[in-house]
Amino acid sequence: AKSAGGNRFEHADAEADARAITRHGLTTSLPTALERGEFFIEYQPLVHLADGTVHGAEALVRWSHPTHGVLGPDRFIPLAEHTGLIVPLGRWVLEQSVRQARAWQEELAAGTFGGPLRINVNLSPAQLHHPGLVADTVEVLERVGLEPGSLCLEVTESALIGADEDLLKPLRQLAEMGVDIALDDFGTGYSNLANLRRLPVSVLKLDRSFTQGMQQHPADPVDIKIVEGIVSLAHSLELAVTVEGVETGTQAEHLRMLGCDTAQGWYYARPGPPEMLHTLSLADAV
Ligand code: C2E
Ligand code: CA
Ligand code: CA
Ligand code: CA
Repeated sequence: AKSAGGNRFEHADAEADARAITRHGLTTSLPTALERGEFFIEYQPLVHLADGTVHGAEALVRWSHPTHGVLGPDRFIPLAEHTGLIVPLGRWVLEQSVRQARAWQEELAAGTFGGPLRINVNLSPAQLHHPGLVADTVEVLERVGLEPGSLCLEVTESALIGADEDLLKPLRQLAEMGVDIALDDFGTGYSNLANLRRLPVSVLKLDRSFTQGMQQHPADPVDIKIVEGIVSLAHSLELAVTVEGVETGTQAEHLRMLGCDTAQGWYYARPGPPEMLHTLSLADAV
């Protein structure tokens, strides 16, 4: 059942996951889950490290399976990628998220909410390769009436390693329209740092493993050096740095001191329903 939040779905062993998927027959129920309305989205706030105010939220999809309960994305995104469902599912997530961001902004304008609110949406490699990405995104933004600058698309570093100009072109077009592109799980993909200059990204999302190195006091000296280096490089390229997986005040304080800009993690809030953002933002706005 859905209650604890966060990484209750996370499985260390991908192979065991693959076996579980086959065993539970998720393969047969996934293709029609979208039309049955079984997916839903939880939102996790991103906060400014400097003062704890809300910067935006990341949309994280879940599958409410009729017999297996709530399944996390690690359980079905790989399968959705494999079957091609990820394209319509990704489009659905984008539309829901853009609508939610628009709704928050309307509440903000009405003075019932302490925004400002931006929305982060994950893009899988298959969506990047899909020719309709730019047109679909533009269409949704226009129809819903959300500024492109309120949307951030997250692409993993590994999806862009060795990417040629054909793959980068749609991202470049979106970036030129004002959509932010974030490099997710940054620091795990062994990408050439000099390569960053040719990617149309405006945000680096430091992988959770660096946050874990900030748990002790004093923090891991090697991780400190690495994060210092990444932050200084990012800022010199005018990229913002987001950290994820912040679970304690110690981590938050180290990462703030190191100059990271925004943060996300259980320390601030677990992923939850959109209403959760209200209480959080109002509390922080004071
Ligand atoms: P991600 O993009 O790296 O998302 C962050 C993950 O870290 C989320 O797991 C989130 O719940 C979890 N998390 C947040 N705060 C903490 C914390 O303080 N500690 C720990 N240990 N974990 C934390 P989740 O929701 O299970 O999502 C897993 C992955 O599934 C995401 O990783 C993302 O790659 C993918 N995903 C989620 N939603 C979508 C989607 O709509 N489309 C696509 N293509 N992928 C998605
Ligand atoms: Ca992400
Ligand atoms: Ca990430
Ligand atoms: Ca991840």
